[in-house]
Amino acid sequence: MPLLDIRNLTVSLENEYRTINAIDKMSLTLRNGSIHGLVGESGSGKTLVAKAIMGLLDGEWSVKADRLFWQDQDLLRMSDEQRQAIIHRDIAMIFQEPSRSLDPTAPIIEQIEEVIPSSELPNSFWGRRQARHKHAEGLLKKVGIKSYQRCLSSYPHELSEGLCQKVMIAMAIARNPKLLIADEPTDAMESTTKVQIMRLLQKLNESKDMSILLISHDLNAIANWSDDISILYAGQSVESGTKKAILKRPLHPYTQILFQNIKKFSEPGAHKSPLFALEGTTPPVQHLPIGCRLGPRCPKAQKQCVKTPKAKKLHGHIYHCHFPVNMERKGNE
Ligand code: SF4
Repeated sequence: MPLLDIRNLTVSLENEYRTINAIDKMSLTLRNGSIHGLVGESGSGKTLVAKAIMGLLDGEWSVKADRLFWQDQDLLRMSDEQRQAIIHRDIAMIFQEPSRSLDPTAPIIEQIEEVIPSSELPNSFWGRRQARHKHAEGLLKKVGIKSYQRCLSSYPHELSEGLCQKVMIAMAIARNPKLLIADEPTDAMESTTKVQIMRLLQKLNESKDMSILLISHDLNAIANWSDDISILYAGQSVESGTKKAILKRPLHPYTQILFQNIKKFSEPGAHKSPLFALEGTTPPVQHLPIGCRLGPRCPKAQKQCVKTPKAKKLHGHIYHCHFPVNMERKGNE
């Protein structure tokens, strides 16, 4: 049983003339205990997917899906209160630019103590106060902050982005979530800090059996740290499967071009090799092409691509393309 199973998620916005499907029938299956990378260029809709899962989109957005299951419970067939209670109990999210997510007017100790659930504390007033403080210290130790006492008495602006992100992770794990959604958790950080944060997430995944949905446009981070990968383009599912399958044999032209660059960089003399890139940019949500949204940029596009390709499965590997690549090896495997 998957931890999270999403089928044909559509997130749309309506104006007086038409409905815009910013996310168009996107699917994602997240295995329990895995790190699942969700990758796509800026503007592909990754954060929108995360917010739809968390129920954080405001009223102007409409969210529909054929299936939205959390541990075999149908989130679409329960009241808003029941759904929010499950999400609050089991799922946490951290964002890019962590210093902006923290309250600039309160010291870290207050912000961490506020998210510690009362079930973790004793009943007596004085006992609770002390235990809350100890618990906050313990959380900062768990995320590897050595100077935790100084950190607790600091305000967010006195900490680096890396430390702020560790504080955000400490707050996120206070409730022992089963799933952590990490939205561009290392964006704009230095490479050593990036590695520290990613190692911390991996450690939490292994030691606490916490699944992670790692959202990023950083292909190297996705390729290095994920077990499974889903690729999104302009709100449409492109391809998904295990990291091994995706890297070894991408079936979608977009995936092939994306991950060719990673292979190039790992080869000798890589710095002299040209980058593989698609011409053009991701279309804005007001000007999405009909059918396969990659069409105007795709080197393999044909007439048929004005129809949205359906999901097809090959060796447990799902792709959405009328003219997939690397199919000639099918008979040899
Ligand atoms: S469906 Fe057509 S346009 Fe879309 S990726 Fe495949 S070949 Fe390219």
